[in-house]
Amino acid sequence: AKKFVYVSKFVGEPKLSDFKLEEEQLPDLKDDEILCEAEYLSLDPYVRMLMANRPVNTIMLGRQTAKILQSKNPKYPVGSYVFGNFGWRSHTVVKPGTNVLPYEQKDRTDIANLLPDFGNLPRSLALGYLGMPGHTAYFGLLDICKPTKGEVVVVTAAAGAVGSLVGQIAKIKGCTVIGFAGSEEKCKWIKEDLGFDFAFNYKTNDISACLKKSAPGGIDCYFDNVGGEMSSTIIAHMRRHGRIAVCGSICAYNSTEPVKAPMLQRMFINNELKMEGLLVYRWTDRYSESFNQIFQWIQEGKIKYRETITKGFENMPKGFIELLKGVNLGKAIVQV
Ligand code: NDP
Repeated sequence: AKKFVYVSKFVGEPKLSDFKLEEEQLPDLKDDEILCEAEYLSLDPYVRMLMANRPVNTIMLGRQTAKILQSKNPKYPVGSYVFGNFGWRSHTVVKPGTNVLPYEQKDRTDIANLLPDFGNLPRSLALGYLGMPGHTAYFGLLDICKPTKGEVVVVTAAAGAVGSLVGQIAKIKGCTVIGFAGSEEKCKWIKEDLGFDFAFNYKTNDISACLKKSAPGGIDCYFDNVGGEMSSTIIAHMRRHGRIAVCGSICAYNSTEPVKAPMLQRMFINNELKMEGLLVYRWTDRYSESFNQIFQWIQEGKIKYRETITKGFENMPKGFIELLKGVNLGKAIVQV
């Protein structure tokens, strides 16, 4: 079995030399345990943030889908698939319901769950639209921004796992959707294939000018994946009673200096804006609702998904570094 540990604290952008591939001797199975083999592994920006607080020489955090190779648990038969929070591991011995990662809550019912039947859809979606990023987009937009028909919704990191779904759900709800993403290719995808009304490359355009053109009456909802100056610029274009869901602040994950952004209090007062941070776990009890709804929308062709797949377990660090550089369109995944 193989696992990735990180061997030096990240400074700025992670480097290949920050990671080490190690052999791991797995224990024999005890009663109730299963042996799983990773199939798809998820690459997520939050890992960059959380690892900053973990000691070096610990395993990289991360989720995966995995096939059961051996089982001493009758509820988890050999050949079936689980979703696991196992870290960057090729093989894992686990008792379902208990956590194998250090520094994580020890007992949780959602660890090593059997995957539901995905029908004709790939199991990798358990890491994207039909998993954590999907729940984030669904509840963050619908429960916090609460967009209604005809309103204007802006989303940043709009061609990523969360952002690309936020925009599509907002379209289903009858909104005008404006996305900001970091390349022409990404903008073309979200506008032409996903049906966003406007898509702008924030690296080559003036954000204020883009919003004056696309939302002359102002913005009602902002789904913020990025934070920093870009978000302050967008918030300055919100109209009365606008709602902001603060989901991520990826502009700062790799930065070594504190991020400075313009003061916004006056804007909040004048327009009576509402801003709320979110952690997806708030909605754990309602995950089946978002799963069922997003599954249905995909089946109906109302929502399209895309994945950027890096092949080979040994390429996990490369895929992770590329995710933070913005190489991915849609969900970033590693296929073993
Ligand atoms: P994405 O698939 O969106 O990948 C990250 C993207 O962020 C990159 O592709 C890149 O796209 C963009 N990006 C990177 N650096 C910057 C920067 N400096 N400024 C602007 N954009 C940047 O990842 P996810 O969809 O998984 O996550 C999106 C956000 O949501 C993250 O901030 C993440 O931490 C957050 N999140 C929060 C959760 C919560 O519970 N609060 C749960 C899940 C995710 P581009 O080319 O457009 O720059």
